[in-house]
Amino acid sequence: MENGNGLKIMENGLNLKLQNGTHWGFRGNRDLDTPPEITIRGVLGMLKDTLEPADPRPTIPLGHGDPSCFPSFRTAEVAEKAVADALHSANFNSYAPTAGLPSARRAVAEHLSVDLPYKLSVDDVYITIGCTQAIEVALSVLARPGANILLPRPGFPVYEARAAYSHLEIRFFDLLPEKGWDVDLDAIEDLADENTVAMVIINPGNPCGNVFTYQHLEKVAETARKLGFLVISDEVYHHLTFGSKPFVPMGVFGDIVPVLTLGSISKRWIVPGWRVGWLVINDPSGILKKTRIVDCIKGYLNISADPATFIQGALPQILEKTKEDFFQKIINMLKNTSDICDQRLKEIDCITCPHKAEGSMFVMVKMNLGLLEDIKDDMDFCFKLAKEESVIVLPGVVVGLKNWLRITFAIDPCFLEDGLGRLKAFCHRHSKHE
Ligand SMILES: *Cc1c(COP(=O)(O)O)cnc(C)c1O
Repeated sequence: MENGNGLKIMENGLNLKLQNGTHWGFRGNRDLDTPPEITIRGVLGMLKDTLEPADPRPTIPLGHGDPSCFPSFRTAEVAEKAVADALHSANFNSYAPTAGLPSARRAVAEHLSVDLPYKLSVDDVYITIGCTQAIEVALSVLARPGANILLPRPGFPVYEARAAYSHLEIRFFDLLPEKGWDVDLDAIEDLADENTVAMVIINPGNPCGNVFTYQHLEKVAETARKLGFLVISDEVYHHLTFGSKPFVPMGVFGDIVPVLTLGSISKRWIVPGWRVGWLVINDPSGILKKTRIVDCIKGYLNISADPATFIQGALPQILEKTKEDFFQKIINMLKNTSDICDQRLKEIDCITCPHKAEGSMFVMVKMNLGLLEDIKDDMDFCFKLAKEESVIVLPGVVVGLKNWLRITFAIDPCFLEDGLGRLKAFCHRHSKHE
């Protein structure tokens, strides 16, 4: 059956049926003692306010994934030139079409098609204000009364907040640390029902730094197909991998299940301030064409703000002209800093790292509260660490895992060594001494 704002997929084994339900409420099942307004930016802001102004040492930011302020992480020169040229050309001073400049859409389609067994078309790509707006668009167009969405835990809190705003019921599935943070696929079968519209994966992972294998992604696709929902694949860290597993885009399995791929240049080019990203429909079998999802996306973008036109104008040059040596330099740097992080953390007794980072800019580590004397939980740990050592680390509760920590290693190696040294000193000082 089809409801008023109509979205129905019952083709090729997919059953994305949405009925007029009665449930409009936010029913996340995160810990009850975690206020829903807790966000990464909110907590990092509070931690910054805790810093001791009298500490002469520099603050070490291990909390957020934005290394753009470090000279060693400066973006590619061709990317800067592309933006300058676009601006000086005076060709990009107008409003852009709401779906994005055709040249930018084509460039993204070509850029992403390189890794796919089929070719994306211009019409499959929508240009957004970073990956953040792509998340907003995807969740907004899928929200219907009674619908639910499956989100990873730990995860990226923007999904939760955005789902809550859209009255999309949230159901969490676990990522399993003992299995390299793979998706708990058995749990998905129990969580999903006929009102499940999508599941979200983030690959390479934030906050876990994991990378999904081809085989695992194929199982995710088959599970989604069997249960009848879409996969939303957040690939904002696409190609930022430095372990043994290569990056595989979820769109490779677009013939098994339709995939909405979300991405941006923010992380790979280290320009999160440029605010340009994309939402891409990977649907080689044309299943979504028979639904109103595409119209909903277009309609939503018609009433939304767009990325600055000159940034869109620069996108083809940025995607086509950035050389492999720039990417390799960034990967080498992340590999080096993730190694440093892994080694230094091994020296700290009250912290264990179940799975070394293989991608993105983060690693999740578990606190052993039993070894600490006067630390109540992860929040308490991070606030005291900020005050005493001027080191900022994100409490795990913010990403859905209480008494864990998310550490970013995407900073200059000297700062990282300094920060992890201070973390070690802090843990030592607060350890129980028999
Ligand atoms: C940083 C990040 C985003 C947001 O990307 P922008 O392009 O800066 O909007 C989305 N998803 C994840 C998992 C991220 O880490």
